[in-house]
Amino acid sequence: MALFGRSKKYYQFYAQVHFLTCETCLSHHGEISEAPHPQPPLHPDCRCHLLEFPATELEYYQEQSERMKLRAQNELLRRKLWRQAVENLNGSDFSKAEELFRQAAQVEFYLEEVEQLCAEKKELLAQNPHLRARLQKLFVKFYRMKFSLDKYRPIPPRLILLWETQGLERIKELLG
Ligand SMILES: [Zn+2]
Repeated sequence: MALFGRSKKYYQFYAQVHFLTCETCLSHHGEISEAPHPQPPLHPDCRCHLLEFPATELEYYQEQSERMKLRAQNELLRRKLWRQAVENLNGSDFSKAEELFRQAAQVEFYLEEVEQLCAEKKELLAQNPHLRARLQKLFVKFYRMKFSLDKYRPIPPRLILLWETQGLERIKELLG
C-alpha cells in the first residue's frame, strides 16, 4: 500500500488570464488541490483546465502557483484602473485619465477595450478632436509596448509585426 501512498496526485487550476476571464475563474488560477475540484468548465465558454501532477513535483507547482496568482491579481487591478480611467475621461482635464490608462497598460492593453471605450464615449469623442488625438497617441504607444511583454516572446516576430500593423490601423480608424 505504501506504493499507492507515494503516487499521490495533486491538481492545479489553469485559467486563461485575459480581459474576458471571469472573476471566479481568475480567483482559482494557480490553485493547487488534492482533489480534482473545482472541475472546469465552471460556466459556458469556460476555457479553464485542471492539470494533474505527482506529489514529487509539488514544490515546482507551488512556485508556479505564486506567479499565477499574482498574474490573476494584476489582471483584476488592471481592469479596475482601466474602468477608472474611462470614468475620468472628459473634455477638459486629460491628465488623471492618462495616468490611470498608463498604469493599466503596464499590465496589459487590449484593443477590444479601446473599441468598447469608443462606443461608450462616442459623443464625448465626437465633440473633442483634441481628446481623440491625445488618446490615439497614447494608445498607439501602448499597443507598441504590449508586444514587449514576456508572454509574447514565443510568438514569431513576423506575426507580431502583422498584429501590430493591424492594431495600429484600427486605433487610428477608431480615434482619427
Ligand atoms: Zn473558467
